[in-house]
Amino acid sequence: MTERRRFLKTSLLAASTLAAGKSLATDETASVARKPPTVRVASTWDFGIAANQAAWAILGRGGHALDALEAGARVPEADLRNHSVGKGGYPDRDGKVTLDASIMDAEGNCGAVAALEHVTHAISVARRVMERTPHVLLVGDGALQFALEQGFEKENLLTPEADRAWHEWLKTAQYKPVVNSEVRDYGASHPAGRPGGKDNHDTIGMLALDAHGKLAGACTTSGMQWKLHGRVGDSPIIGAGLYVDGEVGGATSTGVGEEVIRNAGSFLVVELMRQGRTPTEACREAVMRIVRRKPKTAKEIQVGFLAMNRDGEVGAWALQPGFSYAVCDAKDQRALIPSRSVFAA
Ligand code: ASP
Repeated sequence: MTERRRFLKTSLLAASTLAAGKSLATDETASVARKPPTVRVASTWDFGIAANQAAWAILGRGGHALDALEAGARVPEADLRNHSVGKGGYPDRDGKVTLDASIMDAEGNCGAVAALEHVTHAISVARRVMERTPHVLLVGDGALQFALEQGFEKENLLTPEADRAWHEWLKTAQYKPVVNSEVRDYGASHPAGRPGGKDNHDTIGMLALDAHGKLAGACTTSGMQWKLHGRVGDSPIIGAGLYVDGEVGGATSTGVGEEVIRNAGSFLVVELMRQGRTPTEACREAVMRIVRRKPKTAKEIQVGFLAMNRDGEVGAWALQPGFSYAVCDAKDQRALIPSRSVFAA
C-alpha cells in the first residue's frame, strides 16, 4: 500500500470512528497505545531527596510536572545550609551572590535567569520569564528589575556563614574548582539526611514525568563559588545545563559549567537518547565527549549528567566518583543512587 493510500485509509477509518462516537485511542490506535506514564522525579545530589519530596507532594496527586519541579527546586533555594543553591549560596570573588536558573517543558517552552542578585527563588523568576515574557533569558540587573516588577522580594542572599567563608577564601583568593567540594554533614535531622549524609557542592537539576505523560526539567544554582563577577554557568543555558524534548526525554547537568557549555551537554544527552541510547548510555557518552576533547582537564574536574526518557527511565554518569542522584516515585520516595563515573576514586 502506498503511503498516500495508507493515509487515506487511516483518515477514513478515523472519521468513521469519530462519527460513531468512539475514541481513536481505544480503536484505531489501540495497538500502539503507550502504557500509562511512570510518574517520577529525579534530582541531582543528596539535597535532591528533599526537593523530590516537595515535588512528589504535587506529582503524587496528579499535579503537573512544572508545578512539581518549581516547588521542589525552591526547597534547596531556601535552605541556608546549602551553599551552592539560592540564599546561602557562596558568593563570587566580589562577595556577591548571583544565581542562575532555568526551567523547560515538553513542548520546548523555556525560561531562564542568569547572574540574578537579591532574589532567593531564581527558579520561580525563570518560570515567570517563560510564562510572562516573549523572551527566554534575562540577565543581571534586567533579571532583577523583572523579578521586582513581578512582586519578588529584594533580599540579602549573603548569609553570615557564606560571608565568613568568602573572607576566608580572600586570604588566598585562588579560583580552583574542587571535585565534589564542600563536603558537609547535614545530620540526621535534615530532610536530605541520613546520619553522616554529605552535602556536595553543586547545582540542583530536576527532571519529572507527570501523570499526564508530560516531561519537564528545572535547574537552579549559585554557580561556581568565587567565580568572576558576571560569570554565567551552564545552568541557565538551555541545551547546556538543561534540555527537554517531550518526544524523547530530558537531561540536566552539574559540575564545571564551562565544560558542559562547550559540549552543549544536556542537548547532546537528549539527542543521544533520540538515537536510541538509554539515559545511562547517553549520559556516559556525553561525559566521554568531555574526556576526549580535554583529557587533562577532565581528570581534574567534576561533571555529572542526569537524564530521564519519556518513559520515566532514569540514568546518570559523571567524570568522577561522588556524584549521586535522588529518585522518587510511588514505590520509593527517598532513593539516592551513586552515579557511575569515568574515573575511579
Ligand atoms: N554547573 C554549575 C555552574 O557551573 C555549578 C555546579 O553544578 O557545581 O555554575
